[in-house]
Amino acid sequence: TFQALVLNKIDDQTNLDVKQLTLDELPEGEVTIKVAYSSVNYKDGLVGIKNQMVKSYPLIPGIDLSGTIMESTDERYQEGDEVIVTSYKLGTGHSGGFSEVARVPAAWVVPLPEGLSLKEAMVLGTAGLTAALSVDKLENAGLKPEDGPILVAGATGGVGSIAVNILADRGYEVVASTGKANQEAYLKQLGAKEIIHRNEIVETEPQLAREKKWAAAIDPVGGKTLQYILTTLKYGGSVATCGLAGGVEVATTVIPFISRSINWLGIDSVMYPMDKRLKAWNRLGGDLKPSALNDEMVIEVTLAELPKVLRDILEGKVRGRTIVKL
Ligand code: NAP
Repeated sequence: TFQALVLNKIDDQTNLDVKQLTLDELPEGEVTIKVAYSSVNYKDGLVGIKNQMVKSYPLIPGIDLSGTIMESTDERYQEGDEVIVTSYKLGTGHSGGFSEVARVPAAWVVPLPEGLSLKEAMVLGTAGLTAALSVDKLENAGLKPEDGPILVAGATGGVGSIAVNILADRGYEVVASTGKANQEAYLKQLGAKEIIHRNEIVETEPQLAREKKWAAAIDPVGGKTLQYILTTLKYGGSVATCGLAGGVEVATTVIPFISRSINWLGIDSVMYPMDKRLKAWNRLGGDLKPSALNDEMVIEVTLAELPKVLRDILEGKVRGRTIVKL
């Protein structure tokens, strides 16, 4: 038997508890993995606390895991291989990483890239992959360090922290926005040049005449923060939209696009194609590996501590990355 955090629903009442399970209670899949680490993302809060995206019960949440293969019926993988699994239906429509053992389709498996340990892979997790995809897409749109300041919204969050660190490591001038007034030292350590309060980057009323400040932005917040970003990107600038922690609705006009030639870039990690996904993970173990990966960015928790962390992340109270040691 092994332990897992199980989300169940009985008579309209959901509960989230650590339970003892047997292997035959896991879903079907070609690859069975002894999980070493998982991590906590905003989406895990949506699943575990708000029960969004849950297809059926019981479900083990956890959209990220790293570990060692125990058994594989797919010839590409052998017992003992170290792997990462994220995205697809993991932790939403298929039991996930908050478990000592997981069973998944072989098509979801990423071999652990050179340059990353199983633990580092989960400090990155979906948040790290998303930050890397954002930086990659901005640079493919032509962004270079000499273009000027880059705004990172939600900067103390998981995606935000890693984005700040990757951009700073690559020589960009990073302006970090946060609602956490006491996190200046943390963000400076990650490489931010300047820290501003999140209230300064919210569009409260439409204003065409705002100063055009940013060469680019990475935005896990959305809503009125994204409205602000669209009105303040410099000519030819780009924003990578990767999240909705502050809202989903965005009001804009065509004006910023046709008068300043800005780019609104969408980032999705969930269905990102496997060939490009492997390249992104390899870069995360190489030229995009954040320099602060093993420092202050990381908190380690147990399965039993997860329900509280899942509530905290929905309230924007979590800093950096929370990993789960199994
Ligand atoms: P997280 O660690 O909770 O980070 C979100 C951060 O946003 C918070 O730490 C907070 O930062 C800020 N924030 C929270 N609530 C806010 C509000 N009401 N208004 C303004 N700012 C707020 O979450 P995460 O795991 O990094 O995920 C961030 C977002 O990206 C989520 O919406 C998630 O669903 C999305 N995401 C998308 C993909 C994808 O494939 N597109 C992948 C991963 C994540 P400060 O306190 O520093 O302001």
